[in-house]
Amino acid sequence: MKLSDIYLKTYKECPLSTDFDSLKLLYRSGILKYLEDGGYLYTIIGNLFFDKLKEFIKGEFKEFSNISISGNYEKAQNSLNNEIKSYKELPLNIGYRYTQENEYYKFKDGLLNPKIDNIIKFIKISSSEDVYKEKQNIDHRIESILNSLNINYLNNKEDNGNKYFYQTNYPLKDILLCENCGYNNYKHEAKTQSEKDLSTDEIKDIEYIYTPNVSSIEDLESFLEISPKKLIKTLIFKCEDKIVAVLLRGDRTININSLSKFLKVPKEKISMASEEDVKAATNAEVGFAGPIGIKVDNVLADEEVLYIKNGVVGANKTDYHIKNVNYNKDFKVDNVDNFKLSCENDKCIKCEGKLKTVNGTNFIDVQITPTDYTYLNSQGKEEKIYNLEIKFYIDRLISIIVEENKDEKGIKWPKTVSPFDYEIIIGNIKSENEYKWGMNIYEILKNKGYNVLIDDRKERIGFKFKDCELIGIPDVIVVGKDIENEMVEIRSRIDDSNIKENIRALTSVE
Ligand SMILES: [Zn+2]
Repeated sequence: MKLSDIYLKTYKECPLSTDFDSLKLLYRSGILKYLEDGGYLYTIIGNLFFDKLKEFIKGEFKEFSNISISGNYEKAQNSLNNEIKSYKELPLNIGYRYTQENEYYKFKDGLLNPKIDNIIKFIKISSSEDVYKEKQNIDHRIESILNSLNINYLNNKEDNGNKYFYQTNYPLKDILLCENCGYNNYKHEAKTQSEKDLSTDEIKDIEYIYTPNVSSIEDLESFLEISPKKLIKTLIFKCEDKIVAVLLRGDRTININSLSKFLKVPKEKISMASEEDVKAATNAEVGFAGPIGIKVDNVLADEEVLYIKNGVVGANKTDYHIKNVNYNKDFKVDNVDNFKLSCENDKCIKCEGKLKTVNGTNFIDVQITPTDYTYLNSQGKEEKIYNLEIKFYIDRLISIIVEENKDEKGIKWPKTVSPFDYEIIIGNIKSENEYKWGMNIYEILKNKGYNVLIDDRKERIGFKFKDCELIGIPDVIVVGKDIENEMVEIRSRIDDSNIKENIRALTSVE
C-alpha cells in the first residue's frame, strides 16, 4: 500500500482530555478519531489495524466457524442449541461478530470504555463432561496470546467463568482485588463475605422507641448514638408488578445488579417504590419501614442482617422505631442472599483476605452457561447442553495493546497484530535513484508475500520518520542517500535497533 494513495493525517496533540497514552497515540497516529457523540471512527489506516486484530484472533481460534446473524443473537444461538440431538454432534464451534452498547461508557475513557463495543464471540456448544476441560484449554490459549502481546492482566480463575481485566494506573472502572489470593471482580459484581457481629451481648426483648422526624439512617445514627452496623434499613422497591422489601445493614448500599439477578427482573424494571406504595406497605410516613408487620410481596435480606444482634428497625408506625430486634426471634424473611454492594476492606469471598479497589476494565470474558436444551449421550441418556462462550472486546484490546507497546515517540505494534510487516521510507522522493530503489524493494517484498506500506509522499524525511514512529510498523526500511552504495537502513521499531544492509540481500529472490 502506498501512503500517497490513502488519506493519513497525524497530529501533535490529542483533543481528548485523557491520562491514557494509548488514547492519545491512537489519535495522534491518525488511526482513530473521537466523535462528539461518543462514537469513534477507525480511519483508512486504522481500519487495517482493526481488521488485522480481528483476523489474528480468529486465526487463533480456527476451529470456530463463522456464522452471520441478523436479529436476536440469543435466539439464533438457541436455535443451534435446539438442533443438537446426539453426542455425536458435539462439540459445535461457532463464532460471530456483533456490537453491544456499554452501559458503563464514559467519553473520556475512549476505546478503553467505549459507547459501543465491537465483540468477537466464540461459542462451543458442548457436553457437561467436556465443557470444563474445554474452558481450561481456552484459558491456556488466551494466556499465551496475551503473553505474546505483552499484556499484563488480572484474571480470576473461576470454574464457571471469568473476566480478564486490564489494570490501569488512572481511574477507569472500580475493581475489587484481594491482596491475599488475587480474587478480583468489578465492584458491582464482586461478592464478599458478610460481616458477623461477634459481640457477646445477650439477646434482649424488643422495645418501641419514639423517634420524631428521624427518618433517615444518618439522623437515626446520631439520634440514638449508635453504630450504623446495628441499624437495619428496609428499602422498598417496585420490581415489575411486585413490591419487594430488601433489608440491609445501615451502612450498606444496595447492589441493584444482585437484586436484578436474584429476582430475574431486568434492572430497568426495578425502581424505588412510590410514596403511596411505601405508605400502603407500612401504614406510616416514608422513613419508618421495618420488617415486622410489613405488607409486601417479598421480604429479602442481605445475609449480613441475620448476624446483627439487638438491631434497630423502622416500626411501620410514623415517628417510631423498634430496638433490640433479632432475626428469627422477631422477624423472618422470604429469602437471604448477598444484596449489598461490596466495598473496599470487605473480606474476600474466597479467602477472607482484605479487598482493595483498583482501576481497570475487562476485555475478554469466558463463561460456561448451562442451557435448557438436551442431547442423548453415548448410553442413550438425556443430558444438558452447555455453552462455553468466549468474548473478545476488540476496541478495548486495541487500546490495551497500544498501552503496553509504546514509547514516548509512538506505538510499537507487535508483529502478530500489525497489518504491515514492513514500512519503506523513501528519503527523498525527488531523487530518481532513491525512488526507483524504494519502489523496487516494495514490489519484491510484496511478491515475496509480505504486507508492505511505502511512504512515497512528497514530504521531508524528518516528517516521515516522525509519522513512522508514531504509527509503529515493526520493521522499517529506509531508502536514503546510502543507496548510491547499494545500502539501506533497516530499523526495528520494536527494539529501536538499526542496521545497514545491502539491497541485494534484501531483494534476492529465494
Ligand atoms: Zn482472597
